Amino acid sequence: MVTIAVDGPSGSGKSSVSKAVAARLGLAYLDTGAMYRAATLWCVRTDVALDRTEAVAAAVRGMPLEMGVDPAAPGVSLDGEDVALAIRTTEVTAAVSQVATNLQVRDELRRRQREIIARESDGGFSAGRGIVAEGRDITTVVAPDADARVLLTASEEARLRRRSLEVHGAADASAVEATRDQVLRRDRDDSTVSTFHVAADGVVTVDSSELDLDQTVDAVLAVVERTAV
Ligand code: C5P
Repeated sequence: MVTIAVDGPSGSGKSSVSKAVAARLGLAYLDTGAMYRAATLWCVRTDVALDRTEAVAAAVRGMPLEMGVDPAAPGVSLDGEDVALAIRTTEVTAAVSQVATNLQVRDELRRRQREIIARESDGGFSAGRGIVAEGRDITTVVAPDADARVLLTASEEARLRRRSLEVHGAADASAVEATRDQVLRRDRDDSTVSTFHVAADGVVTVDSSELDLDQTVDAVLAVVERTAV
C-alpha cells in the first residue's frame, strides 16, 4: 500500500496531475475538494444557510455522499445522483470556502477521507496498491505519514491563466479578471484553516509554473520514486 498526498492552491494543476499519477501507478484517486463542494451543494439543496455553523455541520454529518476513486472516472454521487458537474458551478465555487472553514465540517470530512484512504490498504479499487489523495490539508493533517508528500505550486499568473482557460475557455484580460475571485479570494479564505502555500517539513515542493501537464506528472513521479520506494 502506497499513499501519495498532494496539496496546492487553486489552479496549481493538482487534480489533473494527481489523476494522471494515480492512473500511471494503478492507484485509486481521491479528490477531497469535491467532498467540500458536495457538502456545499448539499446545504444549498437542503436549505441550510451556510452561516449557521451548527446546522451546516449537522447536515454534512448526515450527507449521503459516495466518492468514486477510479482516476479514469472519479464520480461524485449525492443521494444517489451524479453531481460531478453540479459541484463545479460558479455558485458552488464562490460559496465552498464558507463551508470548508467550518471546523466541524472539516472534522467530519477528514474522518471520511481517512476511511476512504484506509479502504485502499487491503482491497478497494486499487486491490490494496494504494491511493493518491489531493487537496489543501492532505500532506499536513489528513495523511501526514503518507509515503510521498507533494506541494504543487504555480505562480499567481499561471494559476489565473489555467483557471480562466478551464472556466471561460479563454485567457484574455477580461476572462482572467473574472476568475480572480474564484482563485485568489478563495485561496485567501481557505488559507485561514489550511497551510498550502509553503511546504511543511518533509513535503517536497513542485513548481509547475513553467511545466506542462506531462512534465509536472513526471516531476511528481520522480518525487514518489525518491521518497516512497
Ligand atoms: O480543489 P478544489 O478547488 O475543488 O477545492 C474546493 C474547495 O474545497 C477549496 O476552495 C477549499 O475551500 C476546500 N478544500 C479544503 N480542503 C481540502 C480540499 C478542498 O478546504 N483538502
